[in-house]
Amino acid sequence: MNEPMDGAARRAVAPVICYPVADLPQPDLALYQRAAVGAELGAEVIAAPREAACIEVPAGSYLRITSIDGPQVGDLNLFNANDLSERFYSGKTRALHGTHVTTGDRLWSSFPHLRPMATIVADTLGWYGIDEYGGSVHDVIGTRCDPYTGRLLQGTDYHHCCHSNLTRGLADHLGLSLADAEPHIHDVLNVFMCTGFTRDTGQYFMKASPVRPDDYIEVFAEIDLLAVLSACPGGDCGSEHTSDTAPCHPLKMTVRTPIAGALGAWSSPTRNAYDGTHGL
Ligand SMILES: [Zn+2]
Repeated sequence: MNEPMDGAARRAVAPVICYPVADLPQPDLALYQRAAVGAELGAEVIAAPREAACIEVPAGSYLRITSIDGPQVGDLNLFNANDLSERFYSGKTRALHGTHVTTGDRLWSSFPHLRPMATIVADTLGWYGIDEYGGSVHDVIGTRCDPYTGRLLQGTDYHHCCHSNLTRGLADHLGLSLADAEPHIHDVLNVFMCTGFTRDTGQYFMKASPVRPDDYIEVFAEIDLLAVLSACPGGDCGSEHTSDTAPCHPLKMTVRTPIAGALGAWSSPTRNAYDGTHGL
């Protein structure tokens, strides 16, 4: 190692936050939470273990994802229901809100749209915080378990990874071929997943999710959404994921609609205003 004489001084430089969220347009969280009280139950679907389910969530309504039967992690893709090219942008959401999200954080869409697709209004695992290992819940670090990495690491093919479940789920819902559906699948919000980075080697870790039946996370749909959720083959992700080994449980997605007038003058956020000329 050729550490320079001033190596310690360079390491001692204090960090600055890349994107101070105080500069972001703030959601009216109190309004969203008020309107959620008494919201009426609408459509409901179950993602079976090691499978995916789809549901449409109109702008101005709520999507609740609930743990049922046993501890289970879900991999969530979100699309603009009217334009699949606008989809959840896990990396930018992470840059803005941190490695894990909870109540008040927003789920942002891909370029060139870059606007909040959804705002988290409730999270019954909000109590968890950051544990002694640096782990926390509702991860936007990881991608989604997939058969390609499985083949790289284990040399075998497994067909019920979240990537494949999401691909089949989207294809079924939209009547697309698997080949046409797969390119739309993107990095996920790992609902209920407890993860972090090891402090010594910086490796991505997971540990058994603290989620229990009846725990839920609920988001307010800022735009018309198509949500696709895979019940991960990792179950609670306490041991392994790209296999049939872990006990797995279903997850429920429910749409709830606020009573008329509850949202006042609220309207969907507009697409990002950047002019797209890129200096030309
Ligand atoms: Zn998975």
